[in-house]
Amino acid sequence: MIRFYNSLTGRVEEFKPIKEKEVKMYVCGSTVYNGMHIGNTRPIIFFDVVARFFKYLGYKVTYVSNFTDIDDKIIKKAAAEGVSEEEIANRYIKVILGTYKKLNILPHDANPRVTETMDDIVKFVQLLVDKKKAYIVDGDVYFDVDTVSDYGTLSGQKLDDLINGARVDENDKKKNPYDFNLWKETVDGVKWHTCFSDGRPGWHTECVVMINKILGSPIDIHGGGTDLKFPHHENERAQAIAAYDNGLANYWMHTGWIAIDNVKMSKSLGNTVDADKLVTDLGYGVYRLALLSAPYRQMVNYQEDLIKSSNNQYDKIVRAFIQLTRKLQISYDLVNPKAEIKKESFVNLNNEFIEALSDDFNISNAMTALDKVIKEVNVATRQNNLTKEELVELYTLFFNMLWVLGIEPHIEALNEEELSLVREWNEARANKDFAKADLLRSQISEKGIIL
Ligand SMILES: [Zn+2]
Repeated sequence: MIRFYNSLTGRVEEFKPIKEKEVKMYVCGSTVYNGMHIGNTRPIIFFDVVARFFKYLGYKVTYVSNFTDIDDKIIKKAAAEGVSEEEIANRYIKVILGTYKKLNILPHDANPRVTETMDDIVKFVQLLVDKKKAYIVDGDVYFDVDTVSDYGTLSGQKLDDLINGARVDENDKKKNPYDFNLWKETVDGVKWHTCFSDGRPGWHTECVVMINKILGSPIDIHGGGTDLKFPHHENERAQAIAAYDNGLANYWMHTGWIAIDNVKMSKSLGNTVDADKLVTDLGYGVYRLALLSAPYRQMVNYQEDLIKSSNNQYDKIVRAFIQLTRKLQISYDLVNPKAEIKKESFVNLNNEFIEALSDDFNISNAMTALDKVIKEVNVATRQNNLTKEELVELYTLFFNMLWVLGIEPHIEALNEEELSLVREWNEARANKDFAKADLLRSQISEKGIIL
């Protein structure tokens, strides 16, 4: 049984997919006016592990994450540079897709853009107006939050409380201060001609339409960073209830903040860290392990110590993986072998790993299972305690666990020259020619064949 925390109910719940063995998931992507900072990559990495885990369990996963390519910030940047919004969007989508690749994110099934979805967005706004869930004032269209009885459920707030403690923008056009823009009349920048006005859509509307168009609503899992819970996700949900009579997603999942040296990271504080540069410096394995180090709903504190421990952890993983890969090739001429896992202790370790992730994605417990596998590998490569078949099973188990975590070390197979060096060494040892064996051993170490 897979269970995880549903932000909508505030409880850890059993996951029941809409269609058996299928998962439809959507994670809000970036607004493309610059590259990603470390905080933007946390949900992207975490939900990549979620998608991988479901795939490992044999689910058919359809994972969509959008690009918001219409926004004030994009318009401002385009104007400042004297280029089109499209040029700015294309530039940063390219950068972000590059960062995804460096982070070893599995390609999403779709990365829709707002500009490609505009006809559907306009139709959707019209639908909400027709259903009297939205109203037009001058050229703007507002969603009427009072028409959705459980508005505030996702973020755990009551509309009355929200209004009493209100610190919202003063806008005489709105009936309720929490009403939000579905469509905004605009003067500056790119705009679309509609019967409401010449303007552009609101951010909250864009995601709802992209989700419904590509995946159909409701979907199974809607994810994002915790900062998106209110108002963005609350407002997405309210619109879906109003338009489609469903809450858009059955499970809502949110990842926690990132702190930099104990200070919550934010653009306004100016303590953001560029993700693309960081992953280039650290390598994706260390980067992923660092961001997966804390329970996903809690804060990750990015600091020197975390990088050090993630580096050590990654080193330990890769060294063990190389040793096992080498042993299989040197002893049995096997490269990337796969086998069904049958040995009882390995089956148990696999179950321990799966149970950890099935328990609200407890990555820390999953790492404990991985550590046990590494220990098995270390013993098996030093002592010949496993049969060929068992070694292949162990390799498969290790490979699979790493794959779920998004760590896929690429180990070059040894060439003929390297292999014959190792065979010569084994021969020298068998013949008790220790001087020759030592010499060969040092050559083997220098070449990095055996660490
Ligand atoms: Zn969204």
